[in-house]
Amino acid sequence: MTSSPRPASDSTPGTASGSARPPLNRRLAEFGTTIFAEMSALAVSTGSINLGQGFPDTDGPEEIREAAVRALRDGRGNQYPPGPGIPELRAAVAAHQERRYGLLYDADTEVLVTAGATEAIAASLLALLEPGDEVIALEPYYDSYAACIAMAGARRVPVTLRPHRGEDGAPSFRLDLDELRDAVTDRTRLLLINTPHNPTGTVLTRAELAAIAGLAVERDLLVVTDEVYEHLVFDGAEHVPLATFPGMRERTVAIGSAGKSFSFTGWKVGWVTAAPALLSAVRSAKQFLTYVSSGPFQYAVAEALALPETYFAAFRADMQAKRDVLAAGLAEAGFEVFRPAGTYFVTTDIRPLGERDGFAFCRALPERAGVVAVPNAVFYDHREVGAPFVRFAFCKQVEVLQEAVKRLKTAF
Ligand SMILES: *Cc1c(COP(=O)(O)O)cnc(C)c1O
Repeated sequence: MTSSPRPASDSTPGTASGSARPPLNRRLAEFGTTIFAEMSALAVSTGSINLGQGFPDTDGPEEIREAAVRALRDGRGNQYPPGPGIPELRAAVAAHQERRYGLLYDADTEVLVTAGATEAIAASLLALLEPGDEVIALEPYYDSYAACIAMAGARRVPVTLRPHRGEDGAPSFRLDLDELRDAVTDRTRLLLINTPHNPTGTVLTRAELAAIAGLAVERDLLVVTDEVYEHLVFDGAEHVPLATFPGMRERTVAIGSAGKSFSFTGWKVGWVTAAPALLSAVRSAKQFLTYVSSGPFQYAVAEALALPETYFAAFRADMQAKRDVLAAGLAEAGFEVFRPAGTYFVTTDIRPLGERDGFAFCRALPERAGVVAVPNAVFYDHREVGAPFVRFAFCKQVEVLQEAVKRLKTAF
């Protein structure tokens, strides 16, 4: 799929280098700077409430912060930790997968600690793809997917999640399984699946996942699953890892993130679980990206993964309450709201406000309302399909969300 130039590349650094050939190579030319940098700068210069980037404005559990301080003071992790991650954290990841999902992984051969999920995604794609391979990703997709597929020299093939009205009239974005099946060719190597899904908030159902698993087995595809929002599913929905389906454990690379699960996004601790051959491939790429990272934080995250279910339930309930505040407020302000079943994000349709272009809308929003949001079009190859959608993050304090809603209701 060839795509139109991404707006992020408008301000590609280095094109004014004076030489005929721009410094940024052709594989990455379309990925200049991310929209988040532009929008966060706008937030600062206009004093706006930043609901653009998805990071919590309150830190995770105090005892986990203290565990990091303790590790640092005790001299644990201040020097290069072991390449695959400290044994305590690998054991904690394995225990978490078993306790929650009944998935058994060997902490030594099937678990890898990474510099956030971001590095896990990069290492997986760089390790598993040959130039020319096709990768199917659900569109809209998380922005690093396209860049990493490009760095691997592979081709992204988007399958679009489309607005769909449920029996109760509520809209959500759904995967068309026939479209997914039709997108598989003889060159398809890998399915890159994200559930709960950023930016739409869609949580794939067990039936949808079973169909994806069946397709992967039938066509002998590898699957990379980005499960960073595994703990953020609402209204009793369940997150089901693809690795739990028949024939999937041997072909699935699953990715998790302490940033998202424990509200420490600055620590950059992520992990991969996969069968030994896949894990060892991903580890080969990872060792030459960061080699290791986040030493003392790894000790703290090992403790976080062992927190009792009460932590996860409270985290989920807190985020669901925040979702409700923002979703209701956006609806009152006149947006059409896609009430998310998971993640930090609510996607809206701006057409009821008489708007059609999410880019123009988001560039004007800070001046107009003192709020920053992100145009979903940046997550699409099919720009025109994503044009009317705008994403707001709700991982913020309730008072912040209430103030944002007040501003939006005044502006519209
Ligand atoms: C935030 C996010 C990531 C990156 O997670 P880190 O652990 O911060 O690197 C990956 N995938 C999705 C879908 C995300 O939203």
